[in-house]
Amino acid sequence: MAYVLTIDGPAGAGKSSVAKRLAQLLGIHYLDTGAIYRAIALVLAEEGVRPEESESLTQALPGIRIELRGGAVLANGVDVSREIRTPRADKLSSVYSALPSVRRALLGLQRDQEQYGSLVVEGRDEGSVVFPKAPLKFFLTATPEARARRRCLERERRGEPVSYEEVLAAIRERDIADSSREVSPLVQPEGAVRIDTSDMTEDEVVECLLSRVRDALAKGEISA
Ligand code: C5P
Repeated sequence: MAYVLTIDGPAGAGKSSVAKRLAQLLGIHYLDTGAIYRAIALVLAEEGVRPEESESLTQALPGIRIELRGGAVLANGVDVSREIRTPRADKLSSVYSALPSVRRALLGLQRDQEQYGSLVVEGRDEGSVVFPKAPLKFFLTATPEARARRRCLERERRGEPVSYEEVLAAIRERDIADSSREVSPLVQPEGAVRIDTSDMTEDEVVECLLSRVRDALAKGEISA
């Protein structure tokens, strides 16, 4: 029987790379929900819809089609996989994702992914709101400084050097926005295993999660 494994946590805690590798090692699907929020935010901004609950937001949402194809994210048929990784998209996604109607609009798309089989899903409210009954939940966190260092390395690797101070300030700003919003704030879901990754390598985090999953499989708590 298919199972859902959720990984929530703040920006830069290492969720994406860990979730991706875990899904690969387990041979199951990976769902990056941040990518969906980023894509819808870009479309709304492009259409000039202000980030607040309004008639124009209600009208715009049903017309936006977000699709996940392999590793690519499509917004109304256009591949936005690169565009969603810019600092502008970081900010826009954080702002638009605080709106209840945006979250409601994306709930079905996220839950639908379960029909394709077992899933590693990564985001902010996956274990608390989207898949509250998931049998395995993790909450990855790290100090803002450790997360900023990782983000800088990521951007440098992509040939986009940035200042550490700017990244740290943006992370702090996003933490506040994500944790203080009224709908689906970033919280540690009930029943989630908390892992502070500040002093861990990516391999160690993957190994830690993998051993929990193998344990649950061996005990019959989940089955592939
Ligand atoms: O994880 P990532 O940094 O790509 O997410 C971008 C933004 O989308 C986050 O800052 C957060 O505001 C929002 N988000 C969310 N709920 C999710 C995933 C992402 O609100 N499940």
